[in-house]
Amino acid sequence: MSKILQTTKTTFTDSRTWDDQKKILVILAHPDDPEFFCGATLAKWAGEGHQITYCLLTHGEKGTNTEFSDIDYIKEIREKEQKEAAFAIGAQKVLFMNHPDGFLEATLSLRKELVQVMRKEQPDIVVSCDPSNFFIHGESINHPDHRAAGLAVVEAIFPAVQNDDFYPELLDEGFNSHHIQELWLSLPLEANIVVDVTMQWETKIAALLKHKSQIGNSEVFKDRMKNRGKVIFGKKKYFEEFHRLVIRK
Ligand SMILES: [Zn+2]
Repeated sequence: MSKILQTTKTTFTDSRTWDDQKKILVILAHPDDPEFFCGATLAKWAGEGHQITYCLLTHGEKGTNTEFSDIDYIKEIREKEQKEAAFAIGAQKVLFMNHPDGFLEATLSLRKELVQVMRKEQPDIVVSCDPSNFFIHGESINHPDHRAAGLAVVEAIFPAVQNDDFYPELLDEGFNSHHIQELWLSLPLEANIVVDVTMQWETKIAALLKHKSQIGNSEVFKDRMKNRGKVIFGKKKYFEEFHRLVIRK
């Protein structure tokens, strides 16, 4: 049974989230977003036997330094690094949709692509990014691609994924309508669930270290990540936050 403690606004969980096995689809803008935003929670779920697929909307080809100048080469590197990181987390599959980095928009054509992906993968749980969060912790500007990815996912899930009247041509191609049970939005403007990921923090760091083109000096990076914990009753604890929407029980 799940042990979930309810506080006034936020749920805190430090044990199993679901009793049955779930198919989880993580849809985010850039390679390294899954690990940075929610990698430890994904590692926790993988460890509990849930099946995890990543879907990256871009190759993050602008998020790198001048060491690499050829766009196709950067895409290749970022794809390889993302696959290694995903497998370090415990994910089974990584999909890339190859939209241009930095110019992601929640268009109707992206909505249809996402409906197709969700109908094909048939996830129980979708993980994305809170589209309403313009300023991370009120201190830094959230990348517009992150918000666009989240908005496109939200607008694809309801009502189109579950409704046969949307995209009947997809039905003809075998992509049947599908009900998503829950949507977990990382980088939330306001969290309603906090996951204790102390046990998975090392796995998160190990996965992030696979993104060699992004992290600079690995020792400095490791120290920075280890400092993100909170000391509670004398013990260092690590957490990841989400806005969790239960769509269908
Ligand atoms: Zn990003």
